[in-house]
Amino acid sequence: MRYSEMFLPTGREVPSDAELISHQLMIRAGLVRKLTGGIYSYLPFGLRAIRKVEQIVREEMNRAGAQEVFLPMVQPAELWQESGRWDYYGKELLRLRDRHEREYCLGPTHEEVITDLVRNDIKTYRQLPKNLYQIQTKFRDEIRPRFGVMRCREFGMKDAYSFDADEAGAEESYRKMFAAYQRIFQRCGLAFRPVEADSGSIGGSYSHEFMVMADSGEDAVAFCGACQYAANLEKAEVPRPRESPEDKKADGAAPLAEVHTPGVKTIEEVCAFLGVPPEAVVKTLIFAADGQPVAVLVRGDHDVNEIKVKNALGCAELELAGDDLILAATGSPRGFAGAVGIKVRVIADYSLLGMTACVMGANREDYHLRNAVPGRDFKIAEYADLRVVREADPCPRCGGEIRFARGIEVGHVFKLGTKYSKAMKAIFLDRNGREQTMIMGCYGIGIGRTVAAAIEQNHDDDGIVWPLPLAPYQVIITPVNVNEKSLSETAEALYGALTQKGVEVILDDRDERAGVKFKDADLLGIPYRVTVGPKKLAEGKVEIKERRSGEVLSLPISEVEAYLLNRIHEGM
Ligand code: ATP
Ligand code: MG
Repeated sequence: MRYSEMFLPTGREVPSDAELISHQLMIRAGLVRKLTGGIYSYLPFGLRAIRKVEQIVREEMNRAGAQEVFLPMVQPAELWQESGRWDYYGKELLRLRDRHEREYCLGPTHEEVITDLVRNDIKTYRQLPKNLYQIQTKFRDEIRPRFGVMRCREFGMKDAYSFDADEAGAEESYRKMFAAYQRIFQRCGLAFRPVEADSGSIGGSYSHEFMVMADSGEDAVAFCGACQYAANLEKAEVPRPRESPEDKKADGAAPLAEVHTPGVKTIEEVCAFLGVPPEAVVKTLIFAADGQPVAVLVRGDHDVNEIKVKNALGCAELELAGDDLILAATGSPRGFAGAVGIKVRVIADYSLLGMTACVMGANREDYHLRNAVPGRDFKIAEYADLRVVREADPCPRCGGEIRFARGIEVGHVFKLGTKYSKAMKAIFLDRNGREQTMIMGCYGIGIGRTVAAAIEQNHDDDGIVWPLPLAPYQVIITPVNVNEKSLSETAEALYGALTQKGVEVILDDRDERAGVKFKDADLLGIPYRVTVGPKKLAEGKVEIKERRSGEVLSLPISEVEAYLLNRIHEGM
C-alpha cells in the first residue's frame, strides 16, 4: 500500500489515561482509537494485526478438529435464567430490553447459547464429540476498563466449546486444545507460559491460563526455576513438608501459659508485645463454610488462600465468619481465636506440621497462649495446603525454587464438566440407550489482548517491534526523496516486485524528510525497512534495516527480493 493513500494517523501525543506502553503505542502508531470508555475502533493498521492473530487461531483450531460457527451477540434472558447465571453474573452483564419489554443481554461469553444449540441437535453418542468455536465480539461491562484494548468492554474473543460423551473424551478434548494453544502462541512469536489455574469443583489440572510474560502484566505467576511447573498465585501449590517431627514436639516444651494481652490483636501487635517472630505464632481464622464454623490455622508469617481452603473443605460457599459466628465458635470476640479447647472443625496448613510450641489466641478476650504444643494442647485432625505461595518456596513437582513473574492472560482453557449441560439438560443417549449428560470444556483467547500483549513484550524506545507473524506489513520501502526520479522509480519497482510475490509492503511515497519517514517506520515497527538513497543507488544497491536488531545490510537491488522472501519465510 502507498503510505500517501493510507489511513494511518501516527503521532507523538499520548492520551493521559494510557499507562501501559502498548496502549500508548497502539494510539501513537494509529492502530486503535477510543470511542468511549473501554470501547475502541480498530483502524486499518491495527485491524491487520488482529486479522493475523485470527488467521493463526483459525488454522490451529481447524487443525485440532474444531469447527467454526458464528453465534448471536444478543442473547435472550431465558437462557441465562436456565443456567442460573442471570442473577449471579452481576454488573459485567449488560442487560437490555426490546420493544416488547423482553429481556436480553449482550454476550460476555457463549456457554448458554452454544449449549442450547447443541442440546437441540445432538441426541446420541454417535454425534459426539464436537468442538465448536467462533471469533466474535464480546461485551463485558468491566468495572475498571483500562490499558486500552487489554482490558476493555467490547472486545474480540475466540471462544470454543467441546462436548464429549465421557470423561476420557473430555480429557482428550482438553489436551487437544492445550496443544493448539501452545502452537497458536508459538506461531504468534510470543514468550508465554501455560500456568495452572484453579478449576474449582472439577479439581485436577483442568484449567490453564496462557500468560504472555511482561513485567507490566496484571497477573502474578509462580513458576519453578528448575522445571516446567507454573501456576497462578491462587492455584500454586505448596508441598507437604517431608519431615514430620510430630513425635518430638512435647519433649521439653514448657507448659501452656495464658498471657494477658490487652488490646493486642493483629499478628504484628502480638509479636511486638510478646517478643516473638511471626513464624512462632499461629493465626486462627474462623470461616463459615456453607454456614458452618471452621477454624483454619496458618503460621503468622503466611497468608491463607481462601480458594485452597474452599477446595480442601469441599464446600460450596466460604466466607470469613461474622462477629456472631466467631463468638459462638470461640466464646470470645474477634481477634483472640485459637485452637486450644475449640469445639469446631479444625484444619491446619502443612507448615504447622513442623511446629513445636507456638503462640495463639486463647479464645478469651485480651488473652493469648504461649507454649501451645500441637498434639499436646490441641488436636489437629486435618492438614492441607492452605496458604498463599511465597517466593523461594519449594516447587511442588521437583523441589526446585519457586519464583514469581508477571504475565498477561491471553488465553484460558477450562474443563467445565457438566455445569451447563446439567442445568440446561444437554443430554444424549449412550451406547446402551441410557440418558447421559454431555461433558463440556471451554476455551477462550482474547484477540485484541493478544495484539496488545505482543506489543507490550516487543517494543523499544522508538516504537513497536512486531514479531514477524503479527506484523501488519512485513516491509516498508523508503525512498529518501520522492522528488528524485531515480529513487522513486527504484522504490516503485521494488514495491511492485515484492507485492507481486505476496509480500505485504508499504511504499513510503510521502514527500517528507527522510528523518520523518524513518521515525514513522520505527514507530510502526515494520520488521524490514528498505532504504532507497542516492549514495547506495549509485552503486546499484539499497540498504535493508532489520527493525529488531537494528542491523543494516547493503544489497545489490537484484538480490533484495530473494533476501527478503527468505527472511520472511524463515520468520513465519
Ligand atoms: P480476566 O481475569 O483478565 O478478567 P477472564 O478470566 O475474565 O479474564 P475469560 O472469561 O477466560 O477471561 O476470557 C477469555 C479471554 O478473553 C481471556 O483470556 C482474555 O484474553 C480475554 N479477555 C477477557 N476479558 C477481557 C477484556 N475485558 N478485554 C480484553 N480481553 C479480555
Ligand atoms: Mg474478567
